Amino acid sequence: MTAAPTRDLIHRAPKVLLHDHLDGGLRPTTVFDLAAAAGHRLPVDGRARTPMGLALWFRDSADSGSLPRYLETFEHTVAVMQTADGLHRVARECVLDLADDGVIYAEVRYAPELHLTGGLTLPEIIETVNAGFRAGEDEAAALGQRIRVRTILTAMRHADHARQIAELAVQYRDDEVAGFDIAGAEAGHRPSRHLAAFEYLRRENAHFVIHAGEAYGLPSIWEAIQLCGCDRLGHGVRIVDDLTFDGAPVMTRLDDALAEPSRVEFGRLAAYVRDRRIPLEMCPHSNVQTGAAESIATHPITLLKALRFRVTLNTDNRLMSATSMTQEMGALVRECGWTMADLQWVTINAMKSAFLPFDERLALIDHVIKPGYAALGA
Ligand SMILES: [Zn+2]
Repeated sequence: MTAAPTRDLIHRAPKVLLHDHLDGGLRPTTVFDLAAAAGHRLPVDGRARTPMGLALWFRDSADSGSLPRYLETFEHTVAVMQTADGLHRVARECVLDLADDGVIYAEVRYAPELHLTGGLTLPEIIETVNAGFRAGEDEAAALGQRIRVRTILTAMRHADHARQIAELAVQYRDDEVAGFDIAGAEAGHRPSRHLAAFEYLRRENAHFVIHAGEAYGLPSIWEAIQLCGCDRLGHGVRIVDDLTFDGAPVMTRLDDALAEPSRVEFGRLAAYVRDRRIPLEMCPHSNVQTGAAESIATHPITLLKALRFRVTLNTDNRLMSATSMTQEMGALVRECGWTMADLQWVTINAMKSAFLPFDERLALIDHVIKPGYAALGA
């Protein structure tokens, strides 16, 4: 379990994915097909007008360092997800692609309020996506790939639908809707603006995650945990701002901190997050694209693993980041020295952190993940 695993081994390893956006993971061919059907104009022309050209446009726009260009990519995916056919196809293909990547359990999120322009109601949108997920699960099972995909309903943090979406998350909780999330530009949109929605969810014993500590630092993480009461942090990568080494910001002494993690000093918030085992949904490639991290090699995830935070590994937007769970794991193996034991650890962390009943989490850990890794290590 300590040798560097090959790409084939990583691909075959069981994976758990908690942070993946439905509108960030479309197949380029599907974007073309659905755009043609909807009469939606795509940003590529000439020789780039191929699925490969479109895939490159998405990745390059996300890589550009320009927030407007990054956000523009979602205008095109969301535009082709306004009909029942479009939503069902995207959801079904999402499951098939994740199953093909070795994912055995996923919580996929999307914002129903962004899919209203074709005339569907919010319940119709939720039921259509759920039906697409069930169809994908059945098709994957027929191919011998067992996967379960649940939904997280997202509300946009700059809008005013949080309470309504939270109520829908509770209404559909027995229909594979696992929880609630808020997403969107962090700066200027404090999570506590949506306190009424979070208080409602807590009264209903429902689970939620908040995108925090990605673009914006410790105050955003503190607010998400201590004012809003979230179960998990979407990203949370900036928690390293509360860690020091010899009194210096830990990221300026990364090599020393990795060599001697026991000498890293904790601020009160970082200590709280680690003590309470609050899961961090880390998305390395996405963080590098948005500037929340400088590179995979220096991404805080490896230090946070050494410090035994409840680290989980995720894709965020597979299309925009041209990534998959196999790619994320492979990059950490190549650039940060992660081993098969590390990949099993991060996978079990994710399963422990899933919005799924305790006995079902345990069953997947004991009967799927551990035997799966043992078989690969043998
Ligand atoms: Zn996200």
